[in-house]
Amino acid sequence: MSKKLFKLLSLLLVLAMSISFALPLGNVDAYAKKKVKINKKELNLVTGERKKLKLKNSGLADEEITWASSNSAVARVSRHGNVTGLLKGETTITATVNATGKKYECHVTVEVPNPNERVIDPTKPIIALTFDDGPSIYTEGLLETLNSYGVTATFFMCNDNCGSNLIPKYADLIRAMYNSGNEIANHTMRHPQLTKCSSSKMEEEIGGNRDKIESVIGEQDTVLLRPPYGSYNDTVKSVCVTPIILWSIDTEDWKVKGQSNATDKIMELLKKEAKDGGIILMHDIHQTSCEAVKTVVPWLISQGYQVCSVSEMFEARGITLENGEVYSKCSVTAEQYNSQN
Ligand SMILES: [Zn+2]
Repeated sequence: MSKKLFKLLSLLLVLAMSISFALPLGNVDAYAKKKVKINKKELNLVTGERKKLKLKNSGLADEEITWASSNSAVARVSRHGNVTGLLKGETTITATVNATGKKYECHVTVEVPNPNERVIDPTKPIIALTFDDGPSIYTEGLLETLNSYGVTATFFMCNDNCGSNLIPKYADLIRAMYNSGNEIANHTMRHPQLTKCSSSKMEEEIGGNRDKIESVIGEQDTVLLRPPYGSYNDTVKSVCVTPIILWSIDTEDWKVKGQSNATDKIMELLKKEAKDGGIILMHDIHQTSCEAVKTVVPWLISQGYQVCSVSEMFEARGITLENGEVYSKCSVTAEQYNSQN
């Protein structure tokens, strides 16, 4: 090798080394050289649906990108780019590359699924939402909230507890609830403690209220019963001729009714108790409870729960509710369902 060539090669080597030291080589540099794109510029979701966004060709780790939603009430995005549709509406999801500040956007449209086309996936977490003691003047607003999130609930109603002849009085609303996929269920006529009633009184309380419900939504194969105070015995079981539904997640919403921190208190309990297959107890006769649902439902959806009525949950998991049997939750979880099917 000639001296000249050796010198030239040495010079090139030194030059290459100094360049590599001067530039911190890493993901960001690799990113700068590539043609980076967001995987979707338009995304359509139904409420509760989750899809992943990513920056293609970036080579960046999750912590090098910041994801944000312009309207997180409509859809939330996780730090990994998972977008969950919550509420009917539109939002823009932005991925910002931390090192350069360069932004990539995706326009997201969230729609509510058609009630007749809703599918509850038994392999994913499910939670049932229930409301007792209504209907009331707050129930209509509550229905709007549930509809806007594309979720359903079971309403255990009393004809003569918080007023008189409420089921016929709210007939139009109850039909609208039923038509949007909600379950109308029985909480007796006057909310007595059934274990203290004679069997004929029990029959009148349960059967009479069931007749009121069926006079509004038509004859039903099953009208679930929730005995007031969750109080039942063998006579109640034999008289009711229907499955008895209790609860596993008590939000104790009645204890904080009318309080300004009611939503916080309800959420505190819910976050501790929420589990796959659970049945949540709330009351639609309290304004603060109905207001709290606007926080409860998006939180449940963001946690991956499919929010639905009691019957929808059990049906999805392949469990037939038996007359005279007592259920406080769905004993088949997503995990168990997956291992059995
Ligand atoms: Zn009650």
